Amino acid sequence: MKPHLVLVGLGHGQLEILDRLDELKERYEVSYIGGETTIYTGAFPQVLARETKTATVYLRPGVERVATRLVSLDPVKRIVNTDVGPIPYDTLVLATGAESRGIGFGVKPMTETGLKRILSSRSITVVGGGKAGVELAFACIRTKRHVTLYADEVLPGLPVHIQRHMMRRLVKSGVTLVSQKYEDEPFHDGLVLDAAGVGPVDWWTRAGLAPSGHFIETDRYLRHVVHKEIFITGDMASRLDGGVDAVRSGRHVAAYLLGDRKPFESRTSLNILLTVPRHALLTFGTLAWHGRIPYHVKRWIDSRYMKRFRA
Ligand SMILES: Cc1cc2nc3c(=O)[nH]c(=O)nc-3n(C[C@H](O)[C@H](O)[C@H](O)COP(=O)(O)OP(=O)(O)OC[C@H]3O[C@@H](n4cnc5c(N)ncnc54)[C@H](O)[C@@H]3O)c2cc1C
Repeated sequence: MKPHLVLVGLGHGQLEILDRLDELKERYEVSYIGGETTIYTGAFPQVLARETKTATVYLRPGVERVATRLVSLDPVKRIVNTDVGPIPYDTLVLATGAESRGIGFGVKPMTETGLKRILSSRSITVVGGGKAGVELAFACIRTKRHVTLYADEVLPGLPVHIQRHMMRRLVKSGVTLVSQKYEDEPFHDGLVLDAAGVGPVDWWTRAGLAPSGHFIETDRYLRHVVHKEIFITGDMASRLDGGVDAVRSGRHVAAYLLGDRKPFESRTSLNILLTVPRHALLTFGTLAWHGRIPYHVKRWIDSRYMKRFRA
């Protein structure tokens, strides 16, 4: 009998694993727990900017979907408790992502309903001056009456001249930039969007996967440090960073499950964020380039990704 491989959550890494489903089925009995769609975060600011209609990507056909949601996990008994009851596993891959920290309306996990709520709000207050917050402010100002960005620092880690350039472009675009932390202000404008980073989810601690308030530790192969039959991908894993790593972690786990047992290598990721119309900011470590070419590169990457995982 083949070992039972259970895949949970339709995170960016899981989509990569499911892409190798036919090969995996030769070695494992594969079951999937999660939704049938998810939002590709690379493209959702483009939806807000009305540059593209959708950021929804789909579960591929041919997947044995046995439940919709993980409710809890017992790693000692090797059982996932779900909305339809307990499901035992031999090997488990978790790709359920992390969550916004709870200031206003969280952007993670992003859902179609969440996206519609942002689209229908006339004014937006964005909390967080990192890449996600800056991109959201630039995207929202194209269609909203007012956009306010609370950021004690804009694009931390990037060279000062780029930070200043982006602050000028934000203000010139009409964004009200408030250079301080958001402290549950009584007079915020419109929907408050939490783009201040993601944090751990409670069930990880209840399952004994991580101490309270911590991301999940893995070994170099992305296996849980204690429960080696559990693989952790994407934002859940303390050693991974952002969406590019989420995609790479999925590819790595798929290769490992198929017998290619190399350690996961961390790399500096290329990020491109949408700014003013037909412009984007490309960053690679501390290098940055703002202009039209990064915009076209981003559009090409995103449309290729969306084509791969469309219905
Ligand atoms: C505005 C914004 C823009 C971004 N842009 C970029 C970018 O351009 N490049 C980049 O590298 N990163 C970007 N990021 C970061 C990126 O979104 C995350 O790093 C990435 O989504 C992490 O993917 P993941 O695989 O961990 O899971 P997620 O994408 O968070 O997906 C998790 C999935 O699991 C599902 N799920 C959750 N709980 C359960 C459960 N209990 N049972 C079953 N299913 C469950 C969720 O519904 C979701 O479908 C951006 C983030 C934001 C907020």
